[in-house]
Amino acid sequence: MSKPEAHQFQAEIQQLLDIVIHSLYTDKEIFVRELISNAADACEKLRFNQSSGQAIQQSEIAPAIAVTTDDKAGTITIADTGLGMTHGELVENLGTIAHSGTKAFLKQLTEEKKPDVGLIGQFGVGFYSAFMVAKRVTVLSRSCVPEEPGWQWVSEGGGGYELAPAADLPRGTRITLELKDDAKEFAQADTIERIIQRYSSFVPFPIELNGKRLNTVQAIWARSKSEIKEEEYNEFYTFVGHDHDQPRFRLHFTADAPLAIQALLFVPQRNFESMGMGRMDSEVNLYCRKVLIAAKAKGLFPDWLRFLKGVVDSEDLPLNISRETMQDTSLMQKLNKVLTGRFLKYLDEQSEKEAEAYEKFYSEYQRFLKEGVVTDFTHKEALGKLLRFESSALDMGQLTSLADYVKRMPSEQKEIYCLLTPNRAAAESSPYFEVFRERKWEVLFLYDPWDEFVMEHLHTFDGKSLRLAEKADLHLSETKKDGALAEDAAKALAQWFKATLGDKVGEVRLSQRLVASPAVVVDADKFMTASMRRMMKAMKQEAEAGAPMKHDLEINPAHPIMARLEATRVQDGALAASVAEQILDNARVAAGLLEDPRTMLTRLNQLLEKVLTKA
Ligand code: ADP
Ligand code: MG
Repeated sequence: MSKPEAHQFQAEIQQLLDIVIHSLYTDKEIFVRELISNAADACEKLRFNQSSGQAIQQSEIAPAIAVTTDDKAGTITIADTGLGMTHGELVENLGTIAHSGTKAFLKQLTEEKKPDVGLIGQFGVGFYSAFMVAKRVTVLSRSCVPEEPGWQWVSEGGGGYELAPAADLPRGTRITLELKDDAKEFAQADTIERIIQRYSSFVPFPIELNGKRLNTVQAIWARSKSEIKEEEYNEFYTFVGHDHDQPRFRLHFTADAPLAIQALLFVPQRNFESMGMGRMDSEVNLYCRKVLIAAKAKGLFPDWLRFLKGVVDSEDLPLNISRETMQDTSLMQKLNKVLTGRFLKYLDEQSEKEAEAYEKFYSEYQRFLKEGVVTDFTHKEALGKLLRFESSALDMGQLTSLADYVKRMPSEQKEIYCLLTPNRAAAESSPYFEVFRERKWEVLFLYDPWDEFVMEHLHTFDGKSLRLAEKADLHLSETKKDGALAEDAAKALAQWFKATLGDKVGEVRLSQRLVASPAVVVDADKFMTASMRRMMKAMKQEAEAGAPMKHDLEINPAHPIMARLEATRVQDGALAASVAEQILDNARVAAGLLEDPRTMLTRLNQLLEKVLTKA
């Protein structure tokens, strides 16, 4: 047998190896991922050569990967029947010619306080991760080029490597790691099985561990949609989503520009957060060419899409991406923007095509969309399209989009109106709704306490301002009502109201918006709304109990109560004052502002008593 040739590693590679060998890293296990993805690449290349008609050595052997562990000997072997390497390729690929990424990776390793060796594969030097765990690495390889002989490459990391001919090898590459004493766990089959399941479940070639087939779930995201059966999607979802229900929605898409992306995203049947299971974490895993880069990748989607599950695969992940800084890199942001935009577009399409399914989705997940409106400026417009509300123009239980609302707007209406209300009945009997009913203008009924903030953040839709009904500056059309107070009398009554109620109200004005209600409270503050006041009051009450809040009062001079009150205040001042107070409280009730209605019961009872005495 001829004497082995001794080779030196190139200086940069030797430097890299010294760091890899002598430093303590926590995620040593990634060497399995790196060697398996090299094996998978080799199988892929073989398949490509075969399909392009090249002659192949031992073409009857199918491309596959076999891993064997030997815990007695303390070794692990990763073998593939891929394209193998010639003598020249072994020299070039394993130690002589540094890839362009070597320098960048070295830089990161030496500069970072906590160097992330887990990214070694991203820098094109994944092979050397073997030396984190091995004191000696032996590579047996035989190229797929017909007639090429086999070679043995051996190295202990330091001091270069040796090359010698090896007889009777099958095509492909077999890498054996003699494990260091502190890395013997990697000779345990169950440890290796767990690692392969984690990182390499979707490698598109069969992987056997000690003769047992491991990866049985396909990376269906990389296949063409038309070839995938419904059951395959569902089976895949069960696997990645850890959920035995079928998914509610599924989006499978590929993009080439601005980024190469393959994504398969699922919306689970149920919103797990609403089931009291605490805050969810996005379960979308990030892959690069079917090999896991990050499970539950942070920053891939905005927070408000944390209910999504699935897979994103991008070939464009850069060399300098590190797990801690993944969120900051502009590429991650670009990926996030593209993915989010695409998913929102999908939801919009779904709402057209599958209106019923969309509404079910909406009722389960609306809080997330609303969170998006409030927290995410970038996608506000697209999110606005997805919101749904009940409306005065539709029957109870039916929902409208803002876009459909806008389509129904008469040309003289310039704004979109909404009313915050606990329920449909309260909305329809609200004094704030009267002017809209009279005008036959549509009002959205908002039942969710979040909606006020959502509308405030959304601010406009389709160029039209969103306006709370109570803030609308709308007047009734000019029809004089029978029995309405004359203007002078009405003005005098308003003054009397203010004098009587004193500090309990701000201004008292004549209302232009009331039809059936005697009075309404209106917030003096242009920007505060009743429900914001309510919240503030609730918070304030803890500190300084019940500091009274002031609202302006608008009275309806066309209401019969007002006409009679104008007469009564001359005849029976005490009774009239009592009625005025009651009117204010009634208006507060209508606005949902009276925290404790018991305070007015004494007065109400006295009034009832008077009514009955007179009758
Ligand atoms: P990368 O995979 O990013 O190119 P590696 O350091 O992992 O970087 O591998 C270096 C090179 O060694 C590969 O590009 C490939 O040419 C060669 N190589 C590694 N493992 C194998 C293998 N199992 N079969 C064939 N070639 C391999
Ligand atoms: Mg590699």
